Amino acid sequence: MEPIKIEYFECACFSADHTLRFGYDPDYGDLWLEVHLRHDPWYKRIWHAIKHVFGYKCIYGCFDSWLMDEKDIDRMISMLQKKKEFHIQQEQKRLREQLVEYQE
Ligand SMILES: [Zn+2]
Repeated sequence: MEPIKIEYFECACFSADHTLRFGYDPDYGDLWLEVHLRHDPWYKRIWHAIKHVFGYKCIYGCFDSWLMDEKDIDRMISMLQKKKEFHIQQEQKRLREQLVEYQE
């Protein structure tokens, strides 16, 4: 039985409120995502609770965890690979520009 692997991903805007937590269970192959919920003062949390009890929905609403479906694995890998390739190309471009500046 292997331990569950947890990885945190910070948002590019560096807001701690946007931190994502991915979990991977190697025994079951489950990959999930947990979204950090903002910590409001007690009176705001009670207000949110009252709204939740009465079924109020808003665009920033409540979050739940996300579990990866096996059929989406290739799509996720493809998306991440594309992002990685983009950043590799950006870094290569930056290094080429630095080299040209150095040679001038
Ligand atoms: Zn952000």
